[in-house]
Amino acid sequence: MEIEKKSTGRHRVVIVGSGFGGLFAATKFKDEDVDVVLVSSTTHHLFQPLLYQVATGILSEGVIAPSTREVLKKQKNVEIFIGTVTDIDVDAKRVTAELLDSTQVYDYDSLIVAAGAGQSYFGNDHFAQFAPGMKSIDDALELRGRIFGAFETAELAAAAGQWDDVRSLLTFVVVGAGPTGVEMAGQISELANRTLADDFRHINPKDARVVLVDAAPQVLPPFGANLGKKAQGQLESMGVEVLLGQMVTNVDATGIEMKTEDGTVTRIDSVCKVWAAGVAASPLGKLLGEKTGAEVDRSGRIAVQPDLSLPGHPEIYVVGDMMSLNKLPGVAQVAIQGGRYAATSILARVKGQPSPGPFKYFDKGSMATISRFSAVTKVGRLETEGFIAWLMWLGVHLFYIIGFKSRLTTMISWALAFLGDNRDERTATEQQVHARLAIDELGDKYRPSVEVPGLLAESKTNHAIEAKDEPAQIETPKN
Ligand SMILES: Cc1cc2nc3c(=O)[nH]c(=O)nc-3n(C[C@H](O)[C@H](O)[C@H](O)COP(=O)(O)OP(=O)(O)OC[C@H]3O[C@@H](n4cnc5c(N)ncnc54)[C@H](O)[C@@H]3O)c2cc1C
Repeated sequence: MEIEKKSTGRHRVVIVGSGFGGLFAATKFKDEDVDVVLVSSTTHHLFQPLLYQVATGILSEGVIAPSTREVLKKQKNVEIFIGTVTDIDVDAKRVTAELLDSTQVYDYDSLIVAAGAGQSYFGNDHFAQFAPGMKSIDDALELRGRIFGAFETAELAAAAGQWDDVRSLLTFVVVGAGPTGVEMAGQISELANRTLADDFRHINPKDARVVLVDAAPQVLPPFGANLGKKAQGQLESMGVEVLLGQMVTNVDATGIEMKTEDGTVTRIDSVCKVWAAGVAASPLGKLLGEKTGAEVDRSGRIAVQPDLSLPGHPEIYVVGDMMSLNKLPGVAQVAIQGGRYAATSILARVKGQPSPGPFKYFDKGSMATISRFSAVTKVGRLETEGFIAWLMWLGVHLFYIIGFKSRLTTMISWALAFLGDNRDERTATEQQVHARLAIDELGDKYRPSVEVPGLLAESKTNHAIEAKDEPAQIETPKN
């Protein structure tokens, strides 16, 4: 299916991804004389830094993942399509995307690729079955089900007198002591010690053991030794066990094994494990590397030119977690500033103005929250910890959540969770917990399809479609 270029004769920018890089690039084109097509594999813009609050019942998924279409509804020069980009023909300037069993093709004059990164298990992908990562709404909802489910199952086991099972069900292991792991461990501990403290009759949720494991010698390595130590101290004061210098060597249904440098192997029996270590850039990085000759590093990030374009292709920009440049970290600000810069650069070219020069990243600092009222922040050389740091964290996150409605809902949920001990978002469905593994198990047998009368027939003859005149009907396949 070829998505017809509107006959505006204007420069057409295709953006891949609706995360921080893609969305902020798109908004920069507002009221400009260009056509923008945003293709993304999700229909929402995900605020990843708060995923752990969805997983631990503080926030609902809608609050941190507003519909991209709604966010951009007033920007009339943007068309939004759902699809997973699978190929980019850099010579023909064409992007191919897939949705279920249909294929779409988009022509571009300029391209911004902001497809982000996924979880990496460092070559041990089978760990994913037992220790879900934290990259998407699906991940957060699955983890929510697993975390609350572990307490429920422990109650059942306790009522039956199966105390060994209770111990492994109430042991939570978080792998990775970066910001996500620290935040996750802190929240599971708060859940056990405050929110759920009085909710059960056979178990005492305060007996839960929360373990944070990392191969590195300190927590929060990017924050430096001083703040790392303070964060560790705060976690330990909440009862979180911090195990450093421990390389995870195996994960199975009932536990996790790790090894120290001297070869000592330890096993922890734990049903609920969370993987918060390691990222791998979108496979589009490797694909673009092969097509343009740009270098791709071990994490799959593609080396970009100082203006974020690819060698020999000044019309292709790669921004955010997918790109590598001057050791910039994979954080939201790099993606936001990169997306905006790429858009500015394209607009300069379209208008015949001088290019903005090389991309310059302005580091606004880093922050991680440990528990309610406690966080660490690093802005330049200024290090802050405790309540003041937590207030800073609160302000910054509220500022970057998209939309007034989401901000308001977030503030109410935070007041309930942090001032009281309420967590309203504890609902988890069986599908959320089991669907990922069920789909994996089905393998090739899982073939969802979409029948769009007329549309697929058209695509076979490779004619452009007039989707605007005749809205297509999507039918669910009948057995
Ligand atoms: C749990 C967690 C916590 C974090 N906490 C912080 C924090 O506190 N502070 C901070 O600064 N950063 C944090 N980060 C990092 C930050 O979220 C990322 O650096 C940022 O999201 C990168 O933006 P991006 O646009 O490159 O990618 P993303 O925001 O990941 O967006 C990628 C987009 O591309 C789409 N996509 C992917 N593949 C395809 C494809 N093939 N075709 C079409 N679309 C595709 C996705 O659906 C998504 O819309 C955190 C990340 C995680 C996972």
